[in-house]
Amino acid sequence: MAAPLIQLTGICRDYPSGEGVLQVLRDIDLEIAQGEFVAITGASGSGKSTLMNILGCLDRPTTGSYRLDGREVAQLDPNALASLRREFFGFIFQRYHLLSEMTALGNVEVPAIYRGLSAEARRSKARGLLDRLGMGQRLDHRPGQLSGGQQQRVSIARALVNDARVILADEPTGALDSRSGEEVLAILDELNAEGRTVIIVTHDPKVAARARRVIEIADGRIVADRGNRPATAALAAPAPARAAAPILGRLAEALRMALLAMRAHKLRSFLTMLGIIIGIASVVSVVALGEGSRQRVLSNISGLGTNTLQIYPGRDFGDMRSGRVTTLVMADAEALARQAWAASVSPTVSSSQTLRHGATELSAQISGVGEQYFDVAGITLTQGRAFDAGDVAAMSQNVVIDENTRNSLFGEGGDALGQVFMAGKVPLRVIGVASVRQQGPGGSRNLTVYAPYTTVQARYLGTTSVSGLTLRVHDAVDMALAEQSVTELLTRRHGAKDFFTINNDEIRQTITATTQTLTLLISAIAVISLLVGGIGVMNIMLVSVTERIGEIGLRMAVGARRADIRSQFLIEAVLVCIIGGVAGILAALGFGLVFDRLSSDFSLVYSAMSMVLALASSCGIGLVFGYLPAVSASRLDPVAALSRD
Ligand code: ADP
Ligand code: MG
Repeated sequence: MAAPLIQLTGICRDYPSGEGVLQVLRDIDLEIAQGEFVAITGASGSGKSTLMNILGCLDRPTTGSYRLDGREVAQLDPNALASLRREFFGFIFQRYHLLSEMTALGNVEVPAIYRGLSAEARRSKARGLLDRLGMGQRLDHRPGQLSGGQQQRVSIARALVNDARVILADEPTGALDSRSGEEVLAILDELNAEGRTVIIVTHDPKVAARARRVIEIADGRIVADRGNRPATAALAAPAPARAAAPILGRLAEALRMALLAMRAHKLRSFLTMLGIIIGIASVVSVVALGEGSRQRVLSNISGLGTNTLQIYPGRDFGDMRSGRVTTLVMADAEALARQAWAASVSPTVSSSQTLRHGATELSAQISGVGEQYFDVAGITLTQGRAFDAGDVAAMSQNVVIDENTRNSLFGEGGDALGQVFMAGKVPLRVIGVASVRQQGPGGSRNLTVYAPYTTVQARYLGTTSVSGLTLRVHDAVDMALAEQSVTELLTRRHGAKDFFTINNDEIRQTITATTQTLTLLISAIAVISLLVGGIGVMNIMLVSVTERIGEIGLRMAVGARRADIRSQFLIEAVLVCIIGGVAGILAALGFGLVFDRLSSDFSLVYSAMSMVLALASSCGIGLVFGYLPAVSASRLDPVAALSRD
C-alpha cells in the first residue's frame, strides 16, 4: 500500500499558560489515506480544532512529525505553509468567513488569486462550482443577502476552487438548521465519492455517523478510532501546480481589493484622506501664492530695467530727517550727467497744490519728472502724449494728468486734451492722460499731475533741491562700479554721505529673497500638516487591521503569502494618500479660482513641478506611514486571526 497522505507521529501542541504550559494535544499518532471520509469528534475544548489547524498547515505542532504526501512539513516557515495550503487544502468554517464586501463569485475566486490563476480562468471555474452547488442564480449576491446554508455553499465552492485534495471542515453544520446541514453533508459525501479526502470536525454524533471513520478525542488524546479505511485512490491526478502568479498580476489584484475596501468604508476613507487633502492643498496653494506675488512685484519694477540707480536724500528709507536734507540738488544731477558712464539723469520733485477748473476745486500732487519718467516707471498714456525734452528745457506748462484727476476736473471720461486749468497760481495745459498707478489693493485715489521737473522747481518750489534722482547708466557699465562712482562723486560734492542709492537689481533680489523665505516658512507649516495627515493615515490603517483581522486570517488560510497581505494594505495606504493628493491639488486649483474672483491684484501661479512633487510626496507618505500597519497585518498568526471575530 502506498504511503498515507497524512501521517502524524507523536504530535504535541502546547500553549504557554501563566507560569507553565497548557498541553492541548498529547502524543497524537494518526494516519489518513487518500480518499478517506473522517470525522473527528469529542467534547468541546478537547482539542479538535487545534488538531484540524495542524492538519491544515495553519498551525505548527510544538513537537512531533507531520508527513504530508511523504514530505516532512511540521516545522516549515509561514510562506512554505501558505503554499501547502494553496496546494492541498480547502477550508470550510462554521462561520463561513466570507468577505462581506465581495460577491459570492468574488469570494470563491479569492484562493485562485493567490494560486495565480488568470482572471478569466478563475471566474469561469468559480462560476462552474457555484452552478454545481445550486448557487448559479446568486453569483452577484453579497454574503449579507444569502441565507446561512447558501453562504456555506459559497464557502464550499471557495474550498474547491484550487482543486483541493483534502477538504477540512470545522463544524460545517454548526450554524445551520438541520435541512441546510443535511444538504452540506450531502455535498461533502459527493466530494468524497469523487475521491477527495474529507475531514470534518463535529461534536454531533449524528453528523459523525455520516463519516466512514470516526476518531474520538478527549483531553488532547485519541481515545477511539472506529470504521473502515477504504483504499480509494480514485481522484484524478491533481491539477499541476501553476507557476507563481506574476508579481504585476498580484499587485493588480491587491489594488482591486484596496479599492473594494475603500468603497466599503467611504466615509472613513474620506476622513483618512482629509489630513492629506488639507496638507497637499495648502502646500500647493502657498507655493502658488508666493510665486504669484513674486511675479507681480517683479513685473511692477521690471519697467525700471536693471541699469538704473535711484538716489535719495537721507541715510536710508524711513530716515525721518530726509525731508529736511536739501543738499541733493539739480547741480548734482548735472554733475552726474557729465560722467562718461551716465546715460541720463532724471530728477523727481513734488509739490501739493490746489487745482481749479470752473467751479471745481481739488487738491492734488504735482509730480515734477523728466521726459523719460513715463517709460522708466512703466506708466502708460491712455490719451494724448507725454511731454518731451523740449518741454523740460523750456519749463513749459504742458502737463499729463492721471485719470483720477481727469474724472474729477472734467467729469467721468470727459474730454481733457487741450484744456487749461489752474494749479495754485499757475495755469497748466493738458496734453496727455495717464492710467492710474496701482498702489496696493484697490488702486490709488490720489490725484496726480505730471509736469516737467523744471517747471515745478521754477514755479512752485523756487529751489533746485530735488526729492530724488533716477540715474540710468550705459548698458555696458558694471552696476556696482557705477554705484561706487556715484557715491564717491556726491560725497565729495556734499562733504558728507547724506544720501543713499538703490539699484533695481538689489530691489529685485531683495523681493525674491523675501518671498522665497516667506514661501519656505509657510511651506514648512504645510509640510507639518502633511505629516500629521500621514500619522492619521497610519493610525486609521492600524485600527483597520485590527478590525479586518478575520479577513486577514481567511486570506492567509486560503493561501495568501505574507507579502500578499503586506502589499494589499500598503497599496491601500498609498491609494488613500494619492487620491487625497489629487483631491488636494484640485482644492488648491479651486482656491486659485476663488482668489482670482476676490482679488484683482495678482493671481496664483501654479507650477507643474509643485504638483508632481505634491503627488510624489503623498505617495511617499502612504508608503512610509502605511508600512507599519501593513507589516503588522502580514505578521498575524492565521489561527489567532481566524478565531478572533
Ligand atoms: P475544540 O475545537 O475541541 O472545542 P480547541 O482545539 O479549540 O477545542 O481548544 C482546545 C483547548 O486549547 C481549549 O482548552 C482552549 O482553551 C485551548 N486553546 C486553544 N487555542 C488556544 C490559544 N491560542 N492559546 C491558549 N489556549 C488555547
Ligand atoms: Mg473547535
